[in-house]
Amino acid sequence: MSTISPAFIPAAEAGPAIGIVGGGQLAWMLAEAARARGAALHVQTPADHDPAVRLASSVVSAGIRDAAGTRELARRCSAISFENEWVDLEALAPLAADGVQFVPSLEALRPLVCKRSQRELLDRLHLPSPRWLPLDQLLQSPEQAPETDQSRIAAENSGDGALAGAAADSAAGASDRVWALPSGWAFPVVAKAATGGYDGKGTQVLRCAEELEDLLQRVQPQDWILEEFVAFEQELALVAGRDRVGAVVWFPLAKTHQHQQVCDWVLVPAQASHALEQAARNIAASLLTALDYVGVLSIEFFYGPAGLQVNELAPRTHNSGHYSIEACSLSQFALQLQLVSGQTALQPELSAAGALMVNLLGYQDSDDSDYLPQRQALAALPQAHLHWYGKRGSSLGRKLGHLTLLLHERRGPEREQEAMARLADVRAIWPLPPS
Ligand code: ADP
Repeated sequence: MSTISPAFIPAAEAGPAIGIVGGGQLAWMLAEAARARGAALHVQTPADHDPAVRLASSVVSAGIRDAAGTRELARRCSAISFENEWVDLEALAPLAADGVQFVPSLEALRPLVCKRSQRELLDRLHLPSPRWLPLDQLLQSPEQAPETDQSRIAAENSGDGALAGAAADSAAGASDRVWALPSGWAFPVVAKAATGGYDGKGTQVLRCAEELEDLLQRVQPQDWILEEFVAFEQELALVAGRDRVGAVVWFPLAKTHQHQQVCDWVLVPAQASHALEQAARNIAASLLTALDYVGVLSIEFFYGPAGLQVNELAPRTHNSGHYSIEACSLSQFALQLQLVSGQTALQPELSAAGALMVNLLGYQDSDDSDYLPQRQALAALPQAHLHWYGKRGSSLGRKLGHLTLLLHERRGPEREQEAMARLADVRAIWPLPPS
């Protein structure tokens, strides 16, 4: 661990200093919000070219799971928060015991740092989410599968329709085991790594028995979950926040669209009934309150024939809330700074009729493209606000920046049309990465 000298120190830093573990684009936008408030924000990251480094008040140069680095960060700050959920709770527990203020607390984070414990939490609170089970629960020793005719399974297990089969030579040493989907389940199903996944990495749609067996041979089943494939009509997201005295605030419900499991664009407000928006808010309030959570919490939903279901929880600011920088009275980053520094939660309001946020994913097969002409063309679009993260390396599919376009239409259907017309303008300049 070493210390890099401050890249930027506001002339008159006000209020409590905040530490952020992580130096990517979320930390960078938090640092921008801190700078606008004249507040100090220090980051912990091992990469001196990370986006947040150039705006942070100071940088602790240490890996994000390096607890000694976080102890040094704590020396400079009155409260610490996180840029992502890859938090080593055990390593940080002694710091919390020594009085380091983590916001949200490590206890509130505990069920959120892993997809399996997220699902357990949702079940415990009776909040709707897709049916799921730990992947290792699919595996049974042959004796445990009385209903199953082993010879039939062996014959069927390469067929698309097979709902049971034998796991040969799996990484988990499950070579003697057979698997069976629970009753009522059918392919496709979705397998997810319990930890470490992001932007669809670690999420796999399995269309047939062969794909499931292939996965079982490659992974440790105890580190994965399996869930039903949800035939959603749309994906929605809600960014919410809770302060120290328990007041809960929400940003508007957003519609999100993914391309190859990565967020492509976000439209706010989503065309949703009052009841649907209220249901999403109630879920957020239940979670925040049950966890005694302080800070910003983001929730990804599926919405379709099965109603509203929680897909994922993110204990931090979120890609679906970036539009709030230009389109709300208070951005998600400003709200997070308020909450982490112990202030009262203020309810954010839309300050435009709506907004479309488009992620700029690397689409050229070169690692050093700076996309300058495209950036200039995007910034010249009417009512457009470009955020370029300045990352080193611009490989295919990487989130390099985002563009927020303010919308004018007040009625839902017209606003969606307006958004799709504006998206076409963006796509003419900035195509999606190839499949
Ligand atoms: P990550 O944590 O990497 O963002 P997610 O679990 O959010 O991964 O999945 C990424 C995308 O994959 C989702 O936004 C959705 O489009 C799709 N997806 C995830 N789970 C399911 C599911 N159970 N059914 C259908 N699609 C899914």
